[in-house]
Amino acid sequence: MTDHQLNTLLTAERRELILRAAIREGLLDPEDALLAGFIDLDAVAATVAALHRAFPDSVEVLHTFAAKANCLVPVLERLRGLGMGCEVASPGELAQALAAGFAAERIVLDSPAKTSRELVRALDLGVAVNIDNWQELSRVDEILRARESRGAGESRSRIGVRINPQVGAGSIGAMSTATATSKFGIALADDGNLERLVAAFRDRPWLTWVHAHVGSQGCPLDLMAEGVAAAVAFAEKVNSELGRRQVVGIDIGGGLPVNFDSDPMAPGFDEYVDRLWAHAPALFTGDFQVVTEFGRSLLAKNGFTAAYVEYTKSSGGRPIAITHAGAQVATRTVFMPQSWPLRISAHDPSGGPKSGDLVPQDIAGPCCFAGDLVATARPLPLLEPGDIVALLDTGAYYTSTPFGYNSLPEPAVHGVTVEADGTVRFELLRAAQSIDELVARTNR
Ligand SMILES: *Cc1c(COP(=O)(O)O)cnc(C)c1O
Repeated sequence: MTDHQLNTLLTAERRELILRAAIREGLLDPEDALLAGFIDLDAVAATVAALHRAFPDSVEVLHTFAAKANCLVPVLERLRGLGMGCEVASPGELAQALAAGFAAERIVLDSPAKTSRELVRALDLGVAVNIDNWQELSRVDEILRARESRGAGESRSRIGVRINPQVGAGSIGAMSTATATSKFGIALADDGNLERLVAAFRDRPWLTWVHAHVGSQGCPLDLMAEGVAAAVAFAEKVNSELGRRQVVGIDIGGGLPVNFDSDPMAPGFDEYVDRLWAHAPALFTGDFQVVTEFGRSLLAKNGFTAAYVEYTKSSGGRPIAITHAGAQVATRTVFMPQSWPLRISAHDPSGGPKSGDLVPQDIAGPCCFAGDLVATARPLPLLEPGDIVALLDTGAYYTSTPFGYNSLPEPAVHGVTVEADGTVRFELLRAAQSIDELVARTNR
């Protein structure tokens, strides 16, 4: 099979098979399980394998998964089993990564707001740390001095600096982390920063990595690759000015965009690696170790969210389906519909494809604000109460990161594998939040 075929694993037929089985097993139920997330674990394994294959053997790579894309511990455990490391950006994500069994040296901590205590902990554990700014650099200086004076010896952490290559924005401003004025990293082209950075490396032999993460959804491959090229060029400049190979690794971040408008994964990891060869061939000479931090591209297309249609109506001539999936599980889509459109498939109560003429309909959620729409005027067979809608490509950043509006409980998330004979197996990745848990969380 080619990469392309492997990455179209979660096809319409397969989603239907999964939906039918989920309904039969009561994982979707019009009273007790109004909505649920599904992650196709076979497809996840195929996608991780495609990532591993895409990078050449000439280079030593640690692929880490950006935990924020799907922080469920069993998902992280599964990814660990597939040979991934983990990128974390908060004490909570670090705890989730450790709970999932990642060894400290396979965890990378990136966050623009690490406290002193978090830094001490990371350096004690041996977790890799990417320093975001000059003040954090001074803090790490102090912590390492304190370690030395208490005789703790050298930290095993790989320590790097996040640079902002300032290559510009993609199509979604909020997802573009390498603009001239981005909040992330040390801006490479700002007055005096390049010289100051080289001096910082000269004075600190323990500073051995360079990190850049150009962006996320909406960033063209060439823009991402230009950012990586700037990081590599910077690393080579440090090494040549210092006359020693002090920078041993480049963390190239994540951010491969995902196509939310069709089944095949495009672009593929191999296309990105092609662009990296074109812009930053020095990345592959073997002189540098490489870390990657992909999130969305590993999970998004391997999951979907299914929800019942509760009522249908027509307002001002527009048919509207009121479903149980809205802003609480599709936050970005509801608040930024132009940037985050989702495909939606329509199903009858058995999970089979809904038939009928396509009628433009609004697909609304259950939240009490007018903008709680996951799609507007979407042509679909006319939905009826008891039907099911599936929000596609929601394996990353959707059900795993809910929004607590209207005290709607977090839905269950199920892992799915399909055996050769078509038998669908579910495993619980996260139980649905109960109303009791919800009340407890909102009480003193
Ligand atoms: C969010 C983030 C990632 C992952 O981005 P994706 O678009 O999900 O691949 C990787 N690295 C850093 C530093 C991030 O902030």
